[in-house]
Amino acid sequence: MIPYGRQDITQADMKAVLEVLKSDFITQGPSVPQFENALATYCGVSHAIAVNSATSALHIACLVLGLGKNDWLWTSPNTFVASANCGLYCGANVDFVDIDPKTYNMSIEALTAKLVEAEKQGTLPKIVIPVHFAGQSCEMQAISRLSDKYGFKIIEDASHAIGGKYLGDPVGNCRYSDITVFSFHPVKIITTAEGGIATTNDEELAARMRRLRSHGITRDPQIMADAIDGPWSYQQIELGFNYRITDIQAALGYSQLQRLDQYIERRHQIKAQYDELLETLPVVAPWQHPDAYSALHLYPVQVDPNTCAKTRKEILTAMRAAEIGVNVHYIPVHTQPYYQQLGFRHGDFPNAEKYYGHTMSLPMYPLLSDAQQRYVIRALKDALA
Ligand SMILES: *Cc1c(COP(=O)(O)O)cnc(C)c1O
Repeated sequence: MIPYGRQDITQADMKAVLEVLKSDFITQGPSVPQFENALATYCGVSHAIAVNSATSALHIACLVLGLGKNDWLWTSPNTFVASANCGLYCGANVDFVDIDPKTYNMSIEALTAKLVEAEKQGTLPKIVIPVHFAGQSCEMQAISRLSDKYGFKIIEDASHAIGGKYLGDPVGNCRYSDITVFSFHPVKIITTAEGGIATTNDEELAARMRRLRSHGITRDPQIMADAIDGPWSYQQIELGFNYRITDIQAALGYSQLQRLDQYIERRHQIKAQYDELLETLPVVAPWQHPDAYSALHLYPVQVDPNTCAKTRKEILTAMRAAEIGVNVHYIPVHTQPYYQQLGFRHGDFPNAEKYYGHTMSLPMYPLLSDAQQRYVIRALKDALA
């Protein structure tokens, strides 16, 4: 089976992990800050806080930005459920902003219109989470301008986008946001098996996220509630979690990070080949925004219902029968049973639903060989015929 995405683990990765296993610390040792510092430098951001998943990073990001009961969090419906669930973890209300049919990212027009309406209703969001779908940055300048006007905070869900750029600068630099979150799940661009990270330029937000990832405990006498008992002292000053990442994982992440640019280049090669090979077929290739250099986590094509006689389901089934693990990104979050139970309805976000009806992600990962890619295209041609 050719999957839609998979990790690349090298000898160097294995050596890095083995070294940690033989060392004094397999968690809470030096590998975590080493990974954090290297990633912060790569992204051009002041702080990086590594945790055990992007989901955890989203949760603590929402908490430190003050999200709570009666607040609103808005995100894109074209995302993984975690981008919305983090709001519910904090007891807040969640709503969605429909996508732009061209970029498949949160639409600036829809966001603007929804903000105007919410201002009238007194239901402006506290946090907006733009999701850089498939690795392509959202239009962050425009979202940042709206945040100045309407007073919401911004968390970039860049789970797909490490190694990508926006206006020539690395995604994750938080120039247009409060916090950015990356995922290191094996299907993503680089991996730590499970893992995630939050980046920010705000020292206080960083310190608080560090504390929340480890039970709300501090060892800093400056912020302890009362005098320390002795050198063993620590104090829990708020309710946190165990969201720590291990040194084993951080060493893998650090080793993977050394190949990040290579990975992105290879993904762009694969994309260029797909673009060329698909040109004559009744499918819509992913459009690239001129402001963004995509990390190309995904290569989603839309089966064009105007020119294609087959349905997406027929094509996807035929591809899977040919041992190609094509997948669909994403089932709009508001159509999930859990969200339906919260009151959302089919038809609420028509662009995301329409896109979902036609889309299919073709295999896209650095180890996909040219021969495998040609096989994918041949199978797609057969399925479309
Ligand atoms: C993968 C993903 C997440 C969750 O990442 P985990 O590290 O698995 O928790 C969140 N948002 C998006 C857009 C994702 O693709």
